[in-house]
Amino acid sequence: MRGDGNGWARCGLGHRHWGRFGAAGLLLVRAGADGPEVLLQHRAAWTSDGDTWGVPGGARDSHETHQQAALREAAEEAGIVADQVEVTGFWHDDHDGWEYVTVVAAARTEIALRPNAESADLRWVVLDAVPGLPLHGGFAASWPRVREIHLSG
Ligand SMILES: [Zn+2]
Repeated sequence: MRGDGNGWARCGLGHRHWGRFGAAGLLLVRAGADGPEVLLQHRAAWTSDGDTWGVPGGARDSHETHQQAALREAAEEAGIVADQVEVTGFWHDDHDGWEYVTVVAAARTEIALRPNAESADLRWVVLDAVPGLPLHGGFAASWPRVREIHLSG
């Protein structure tokens, strides 16, 4: 049911997470002048873990795949439509009964970004600059491995 993922869940590691059926986000990559860039979202201060940088994303509804959830959230929060991107991989952050899935995708075209109220800013960031931003905790934890596995070479 649409929106039925909205709510808090507790994982087996004892954290509280937003998303009753887990959550997903879209890590979008494009070729920039100085190498690959990823699209990051400055989360509005009022959101959960607000005023940090991460990827567009959010709670998965029960009927959705993680890919569908990530693309829906990216459409809502950034104006990205599914046929503008090509999904290239997945990163599963398993929290023992709760999971965040990062959907890695390449931009197929120039994308006109349309931030909604949850996005204080949207910005293309070169890979080396990512760790210098005040990152969302979950994204910060997954970034080194996601970069190594999906964004190198
Ligand atoms: Zn957890």
